Amino acid sequence: MRSRPIKGQDTQGFGTDPLAVRETDHYKAEYVTGFVEKWDELIDWKRRYASEGGFFIEQLKARGVREVLDVATGTGFHSVRLLEEGFDTVSADGSPEMLAQAFSNGLTYGGHILRVVQADWRWLNRDVHGTYDAIICLGNSFTHLFSERDRRKALAEFYAMLKHDGVLIIDQRNYDALLDGTYGNSHTYYYCGEEVSAEPAHVDEGLARFRYRFPDQSEYHLNMFPLRKNYVRRLMREVGFQRINTYGDFQETYQGEEPDFFVHIAEKA
Ligand code: SAM
Repeated sequence: MRSRPIKGQDTQGFGTDPLAVRETDHYKAEYVTGFVEKWDELIDWKRRYASEGGFFIEQLKARGVREVLDVATGTGFHSVRLLEEGFDTVSADGSPEMLAQAFSNGLTYGGHILRVVQADWRWLNRDVHGTYDAIICLGNSFTHLFSERDRRKALAEFYAMLKHDGVLIIDQRNYDALLDGTYGNSHTYYYCGEEVSAEPAHVDEGLARFRYRFPDQSEYHLNMFPLRKNYVRRLMREVGFQRINTYGDFQETYQGEEPDFFVHIAEKA
C-alpha cells in the first residue's frame, strides 16, 4: 500500500491556487492512484451494490438493452455489475490508470475480462467503435466537464454512438441544493457508514470543490462543475434526446428532504 500524502504535498496537481483549477483536462491528475485505491478499499463493492439497488439494471432490462457502453468506467464498479447481469459491455474511460484498476477489479470480482478502451468523451467516436443500446455515465462523472462546449460535444458523441432507440443514463450530485444553500455549506456526505466523508470545501456557480477524508486522516480533493439539474436536462434535449426522465436517488446515509443524487434517463426515440 502507498503511504498517505504528506500534508501540503500536492499529489493531485492543484498547485498554489486550487480554486483556479477549472479545466476539463484536469480529471486525470485528480484521480491519483492513492486516492483511487483507498476509495476502492473502503467502499466495499457489496455495500455499494446494496445501497444502489437494482435501479440501473432494471431500467436497462425494461428497455430490452443488450449492448452497453460504460463511458465512465472508473475502477469498474458498474461495468462489472453489467457483466454479471449478462449485458454485452464495453468499458471506456479517459484515464489509463482507472482502466488498469478496472481490469484488475474485473478479474478479482468474478473473473470477468473487461473490454477496456481509453477514450475521452469529447472524441469518443474516434476511439470506440460500433453503436450501443445504452450508454451509462455514472458515479457523478459528467461533472468533470468544465465548459458548456465540452458538455455539448460529449453529449453529441454519446448521442451518435447510440442506436436509433438507444438510452443514455447520467447521474449527478444534487448541486442545486448545494448552490441554493438548502444543505448549508457544512453538509457532510458519508459513504458506506462513516468511513469516507465528503464535504464541500468551496462552492460557487463555476466550481464545487470537495474534500474527501479517509479514516487514516488522509485527504484528497476533486474540483467539479456544479451542474444544475434543469440545465443538464436542457442540454440533453438540445442535442436531440426526445424524452428525459429525472429521478431523485438517495444513495448516501444522510437523507434530508432533498435527494443527494439525480439520475437522468434520456431516450433517443
Ligand atoms: N462510474 C465509476 C464509479 O461510479 O465508480 C467511476 C466514476 S469516477 C467519479 C469518474 C470517471 O470519469 C473517472 O474514471 C474519470 O477518469 C472519468 N472521466 C472524467 N472526465 C472524463 C472525460 N472527459 N473523458 C473520459 N473519461 C472521463
